[in-house]
Amino acid sequence: MAPKRKPPVPPYSALDLPKMKMVFEEAGFEAKQYHIDEYQRKLHKAGYPDLEDFDWHSFPQQFIDLVMANFKTHITKVVLNQTSANETTTKLLVELHDGHRVESVIMRHETGRTTLCVSSQVGCQMGCTFCATGTMGIIGNLSAGEILEQLVHADRVKKIRNIVFMGMGEPLNNFENVKAAVTAMVNTKQFGLAFGHVTVSTVGVTPKIRKLTEEMPFVNLALSLHAPNQEMRSQIVPAAKAYKIEGLIEALDDHMKTPLRAGAAANPDGEISNKKKKVRKAMIQYTMLDGPTATFECAHQLGKLCEGKNIIVNLIPYNTTDVKDKFQCPSLEHIEAFQKIVMGYGLYVFIRKTMGEDIAGACGQLVLQKEDEEKKEARDVEDLIAGQQSAKLDQRKGKVKTIGTGMGKRRKEDHSAKQDEMKRLADGENASREGNRRKEERGVNIAGVAVSVIAGLGMAALVGYLLSRRRR
Ligand code: SF4
Repeated sequence: MAPKRKPPVPPYSALDLPKMKMVFEEAGFEAKQYHIDEYQRKLHKAGYPDLEDFDWHSFPQQFIDLVMANFKTHITKVVLNQTSANETTTKLLVELHDGHRVESVIMRHETGRTTLCVSSQVGCQMGCTFCATGTMGIIGNLSAGEILEQLVHADRVKKIRNIVFMGMGEPLNNFENVKAAVTAMVNTKQFGLAFGHVTVSTVGVTPKIRKLTEEMPFVNLALSLHAPNQEMRSQIVPAAKAYKIEGLIEALDDHMKTPLRAGAAANPDGEISNKKKKVRKAMIQYTMLDGPTATFECAHQLGKLCEGKNIIVNLIPYNTTDVKDKFQCPSLEHIEAFQKIVMGYGLYVFIRKTMGEDIAGACGQLVLQKEDEEKKEARDVEDLIAGQQSAKLDQRKGKVKTIGTGMGKRRKEDHSAKQDEMKRLADGENASREGNRRKEERGVNIAGVAVSVIAGLGMAALVGYLLSRRRR
C-alpha cells in the first residue's frame, strides 16, 4: 500500500484560497478582500500564468511577497491524457506535488455540453467492493487547490460546463477542501459555473449530507446507492453499515427541497414563483452488477424506496474493473426490464451510456493500471487499451476469470491474449497508417497536378497577352 500523504507544505496551489488566508494570517498581514477578489479575477482571466508573469500592478508589496514566497500556479501536472476511440471521453492522469496520482475524466455529451468528473481524495476509505479506488485504501485528501487544478487542466482540453465529484474518493470525507473548491467553481470572479452545474456525489454519509445542506444548500447532490436494502448495501458498500438507508434517502430528499424552503422563509406571505416551486431532483446511482442486486425483486424494492421523492434513478452498467471481487454486467435487455419496473413507481429512470470503456473508464482504474505498468513493464497508452480489449476478447471467447485459480496460468493466458490483440491492433494500425500515407500521397499528387495546371494556364494567358500587345 502506498504511504499516506503528509500535511501540505509550501509551495501551495495559487488557487487555494484557504491556504492563502492561512499564510496571510500567520504573517500577521490583513489583506483587503478587494485585493483577494482582484487576484482571483485576474489570475483566472489570464488563464493561470506563472506567478512571475502575473500582472502584480496595484497589489500591496506584502501581498506580492507572501504569495510569491508561498504559492505556485500549478502544483500538479497531467502525466497522461487518453481519449477514447469514439472521442466522447478524455481521461487525465494528474500527478500531485508528492508524486501521488488521481484521475479526472472529461465527458463530451451528444448535446455539446461537457462534464468534468473530479477526484477529491487519493484512494478512498469507503472500500466499495466493486471499485478500483476502494482497493487502495485512503492515502490522503486533496487540497482545494489540487481539486481546482483538475478543472484548469481540463478547461485547456475542452471548456467545462458541469462538474461532478465522482472521481476518486468520498468528497464528503474531505468536506472543507471540497467546499472551498465548489465555492471557487461557482464564484463569478473565477470559473463562474452555475450552482446547479456542480454535483457532489456521496456513497452516503448522512450527517455530512445534513452539513452540506446547511452550508452549500444550492449544490446538487447524488447518492451512490447500488442496493435497495440495508443488508445488501452493507455487503457492497461496507461503510454503509453505519447509516440506515431510509435516513439517507430522507436526507437526500430534504437537501433537494432546500431552495423551496428558503424561498418560502424569505417571503412567508408572498407567492412563490412557479420557477422556484420546481423542486430539484437528486440523482441516485445504482450500479448494475450481475447478481442479487439486479433482480426484479430489487427493482421493486428500489422503486418503493424512492417513490414520491425528488429523485432520478441512474442505472449504471458495471464497467469491469481489475479488482479482487470479480463482477459482471447484466445484459442490456435485463437492465431495460429493471428500468421499466422502477419507472412503474413514478420515477425518472435512466440507463447511463457507458463512456470510455477502452481507456479504463471506471474510477481508479487508470491510476492502478499506470502503477502496475510502471512496476512491471514499460507499456504505452496502446497497451492500456489493449489490456481492456483483451478482457473483452476473453469474454467473447467465453473465458471466465476467477480468483484463486492459478494466478500464473491466468496471467499467461491474459498475456498471450493481450499479445494477439496487440498484434492485431498493431497490424490494423499499420494498415491504416499505410492507407493514410497512400491517401496523403494521392492528395499530394492531385494537389501537384492542380498546381501545375493552374501555373500552365497562367503562363499561357501571360504569353497570349504579350503576343497580342506585340501585334498591336
Ligand atoms: S465507489 Fe466512491 S466511495 Fe466507494 S470506494 Fe470507490 S471512490 Fe470510495
